[in-house]
Amino acid sequence: MKYIDEFRQPELAKKLVDRIHRNSTKHIRLMEFCGGHTVSIFKYGIRELLPGNIEMLSGPGCPVCVTSNADLDKAIALAHLPNVIITSFGDMIRVPGSYSSLQSARSEGCDVRIVYSVLDAIQIAKENPNKSVIFIGIGFETTTPTVAAGILQAEQEEIDNFYVLSLSKICPPIMKSILDLGEVRLNGIVCPGHVSAVIGSHPYQFIADNYDIACVVAGFEPLDILLCVDMLVNQIENEDYKVEIAYRRGVRPEGNPQALKLMDTVFETAGADWRGIGAVPSSGLRLRDTYEKFDAEKNFDIDPGPVREHQGCQCGSILRGVSTPLDCPLFRTSCTPEHPVGPCMVSSEGTCSTYYLFGDFDG
Ligand code: SF4
Repeated sequence: MKYIDEFRQPELAKKLVDRIHRNSTKHIRLMEFCGGHTVSIFKYGIRELLPGNIEMLSGPGCPVCVTSNADLDKAIALAHLPNVIITSFGDMIRVPGSYSSLQSARSEGCDVRIVYSVLDAIQIAKENPNKSVIFIGIGFETTTPTVAAGILQAEQEEIDNFYVLSLSKICPPIMKSILDLGEVRLNGIVCPGHVSAVIGSHPYQFIADNYDIACVVAGFEPLDILLCVDMLVNQIENEDYKVEIAYRRGVRPEGNPQALKLMDTVFETAGADWRGIGAVPSSGLRLRDTYEKFDAEKNFDIDPGPVREHQGCQCGSILRGVSTPLDCPLFRTSCTPEHPVGPCMVSSEGTCSTYYLFGDFDG
């Protein structure tokens, strides 16, 4: 298949693997920020192809996983309001909040619907003019421009029963936060491909400049990731830390100006609550006052109650790169994709579900 087969060629992969083995002399630790990369790395057995001195850690780049229980509880409380339809991406409805989930709310009679885009939610709002339709807006910079476009469309079409609970997050501040915590010493970061298609590669420059950490933006095919590791190894071996792109067909250094403009028109930065990390300044996006009539937080009164964390679940430390699913006693025992305890097992990009589906933990 065009644009896919070229990035899966075994002979090229072998050449890259050989070069990485030849060039990599130091014990180094690389973090893939994005859950999509974790899936590719496991699915294609990339960890097994790398020399033993290269350690790969999974990071916090799964939007479902990093959504805090406090924010999930808000969505669940909104679902229980009369005359409300909640619309959400599929993974999100199975994630347990403090006491319940959107799926449980649906089984209790709340109207919770799975949608594939914000446009589906707008359509539901048009079809149900007597109900309030709330879109649960999770995601990173990849999806937020589409949410912004949806809000602009709702304004243009004068749809007055459509709202967004904005739980959007932005990546560079959480990268800084994890580095400042100092719990994991990293030598390089596999920077997210889809996020970077929107924001470009410049926003990672502070990581190379201030932390002496190599940064390379990667795509999601095996050759993309191997090329990224090869470039990271080169930077680290030469102690020449910079931001490079190994995903030129998808990412430009300046990003996508139209998408950035859309986001900036509708959203402004605000603090956000991240699972396992807590409040991180300027790492979230809330609706600007101009668009407050679409803001679910401002238009509905809810009392989600006290927040509770799941006993034993280690999603928080897994998202910080401090633990792996193998450190969690619930992994593959009481926590499985069919009966997930935490979000990292629910999401298709969650580290626990990836380990469960593709991990060779018996070997
Ligand atoms: Fe949480 Fe389940 Fe992962 Fe353990 S295996 S950290 S309980 S999601």
